[in-house]
Parts: sequence; structure tokens; C-alpha cells
Amino acid sequence: MKSTLLAVFAHPDDESFGVGGTLAKYASNGTHVVLVCATRGEVGEISDASLATPESLGHVREYELRCAAQTLGISELIFLDYLDSGMEGTPENMHPKAFIQAPPHEVVGKLVRVIRELQPQVVITFDPGGGYGHPDHIAISRYTTQACSQVSSSTDFPEAGPPWQPNRLFYNAIPSSFFVEMRKKMQALRMDTSQLDGFDPQRHGFSDDQIKTRIDVTQFVEAKWNALQCHQTQFGPDNLLRLLPEVDLRQMISFEYFALASPTSENGLQEMDDLFSGMRL
Ligand SMILES: [Zn+2]
Repeated sequence: MKSTLLAVFAHPDDESFGVGGTLAKYASNGTHVVLVCATRGEVGEISDASLATPESLGHVREYELRCAAQTLGISELIFLDYLDSGMEGTPENMHPKAFIQAPPHEVVGKLVRVIRELQPQVVITFDPGGGYGHPDHIAISRYTTQACSQVSSSTDFPEAGPPWQPNRLFYNAIPSSFFVEMRKKMQALRMDTSQLDGFDPQRHGFSDDQIKTRIDVTQFVEAKWNALQCHQTQFGPDNLLRLLPEVDLRQMISFEYFALASPTSENGLQEMDDLFSGMRL
């Protein structure tokens, strides 16, 4: 049986920074890699006014995501067709089509259907804190976790296909030490660290001992970097990553980190360097 990896995120570009290397790595070994994206990132940044208008941004970002998906070797891209809810406290939060306004049962039902159709062994999404706390990130993490717990039940969502149980659900987790390290590097280079102020390692990072899965993506740093470049509207010249010297940047993006969300029975296991480790496929 072919192995399938399903990644579930909220906006175009969520896939590239945190897990792009991992997606590229599994795609390169023949794993069927599928990405679900809840929105088209309609209220994201526009790094250069010649690239998009607020009206066209969703459309432009869909193409940026298709570019990144192709670069990473993702074989299938599924949009849930909700609207980007914007940062916490912005008026877009209240839009009736905003992702965070969607009825939970509807979103979970869509995800259950996707999981039953694709039958992935491994599912990955944001951690419950949503990486850096974006409301859509928090929502997609919660709904994906919920879908994974209901997908194997024959009485839940019977219209969405026969039950299936993924072997593992992982949260993409950024270790607290990553932010500490990054700030140190920037200070040493006398760079402005104010862009990091929104990232409180206590709030947004995982403590290093919660992260038992570390994927070495050194060989896929190029693909990851190229995928990030696809997201031109989000990745302008002022982007933090562009300001770091290449050697530091490469080192920082050469590993990707995951915390096992389920099954909790595996939580005491040794460290893993493969999301599929120990599975018979
Ligand atoms: Zn996002």
C-alpha cells in the first residue's frame, strides 16, 4: 500500500516555512503528499503593489500556492474555500464567510471526508496555539484534531465514507529554543529584532522536551527556499528570513520539528526521525 501524508493548514505559505522540507522529503521518496488549505489568504500582506490588489489577493495567492506545491512535489491541493479571517481583533474576523465563523460541524465533516477518501497514515497540522497565534491557525489545528478523533467512527459522519484511522497525527512545533537562537543571532549581527517581539517563546513555542520528532531536511533546503519564493506577495525584501545571512538561514531551516498529538500511547516513545517510523505499509 502506498504511503500517504496529509498536511492541513490555513493559508497559502503556511506549508512552506514550517514543514516544506518535510513535504518535499516524503514526496521525493514516493509518498503521496496532499495539502489541504482552508482559505486563500485573502487578507494577507501585499509586499509589492504591482503583484496584487486587496481584491485579487486570494486569486494571486492560490497561484502562489500552486507554484509552491509543484516545487515541493505535493501531488494534490484541496481548498476548503473559506475566507481568511485576518489577524486577531481585525474586522475581517466577523465576515460571515471567514473561516473562524464557519460552523465547526461543517468544517470537521469536510476534513473527515478528505481523510476517509485519501486514507493517509500520517496527518500534520498546526499546534493548538497555531504557530504564532493566528485565529485561522488555531481553528484549523482544533478542527483537524477533532476530525482525526471522529474519522474512525462508523456512526459519525456516515455520509462521508467508510471509517479510516490515520496512524499518527503530528503538530508542527517550533521549539522555544528556535526563537531564542534566532534573536541571539540577530543581536550578534546588530539586526533589528522588533519583528520577533510578537513571538513570545513561552506562549508560541513548544518546550524542547515536548518535541520528540525532528526531521532532517538538509537536502531539501533548496526546495523549501524556492517554495517560499513562490509566495511573492508574502515574502518581500523586508522579510525576516531575507535579512539573515544565508549560512545562518540554511542552518535554521535544515530541521523541522513535530510533536506527536495522537496516539497518546506513543508519547513515551523514543525520539523519531521519520513520521512513518515503525509502520508497516
Ligand atoms: Zn497562515
